[in-house]
Amino acid sequence: MNKEELKSYVKELGIELTEEMLQKLNDYADFLLEYNTHTNLTAIKTKEEVYLKHFYDSLTLVKIANLQKGTLLDVGTGAGFPGLVLAIVFPNLEVTLLDSNNKKITFLNDCIAKLQIKNAHTVYSRAEDYTKIHRESFDFVTSRAVANLRILLELNIPALKVNGCFLVMKAQVEEELEDSKNTMRVLSCKIIGQEEFNLPKNGGTRTLLNIKKTKETDQKYPRTYDKIKKKALK
Ligand code: SAM
Repeated sequence: MNKEELKSYVKELGIELTEEMLQKLNDYADFLLEYNTHTNLTAIKTKEEVYLKHFYDSLTLVKIANLQKGTLLDVGTGAGFPGLVLAIVFPNLEVTLLDSNNKKITFLNDCIAKLQIKNAHTVYSRAEDYTKIHRESFDFVTSRAVANLRILLELNIPALKVNGCFLVMKAQVEEELEDSKNTMRVLSCKIIGQEEFNLPKNGGTRTLLNIKKTKETDQKYPRTYDKIKKKALK
């Protein structure tokens, strides 16, 4: 996908990319690919793939949520997906980019400074340590390609405000949803939106879920990562 194609594909999602946004995305792609030659950030090696699998894919979240404003925490953001793309395209969204890998955080800090992005900042932390403390704080939480849904729910839901939404990005979700039923109940979550589609240009299948938190989360969650991994909530 090239720049012009991105512009027209996201228009179909209801997003009008300005020249300034397109320039920032172009600079982001160049910086990512250049940085990736010496520091491993992404398996994606071409600009066309960055536009499709990182930029377009990140922006498909608008199919399930209005991201024009509010606060968003991107847990396990890696090189900034979906969080930094959302920050570029939605200047009134306050984005927190969290990762436990310092290489990725260093890249993101350099990138934010280079592109002069005012509405994004980074946090170097394990998700479970951060969300244990920063509770009931965000309108949205996202995580792409970080862990299975059951684990993500316990890591992420404590950070959401009541009525806030966890925006889930997966290729397939059926099995993980089945495995997450009790966790959803214990953490007072309900699915309020679901979209299944194929990325353009045979980029693969996607399922997006919008999971709303309906009650304040008990202080005992999240448990330690070992416990979350070993034992599902009942
Ligand atoms: N979300 C990005 C994307 O889709 O391109 C990165 C995905 S990468 C496969 C997973 C990222 O999650 C890594 O950067 C890793 O450091 C981070 N991660 C995994 N577990 C984490 C945790 N418990 N807390 C914070 N970051 C975590």
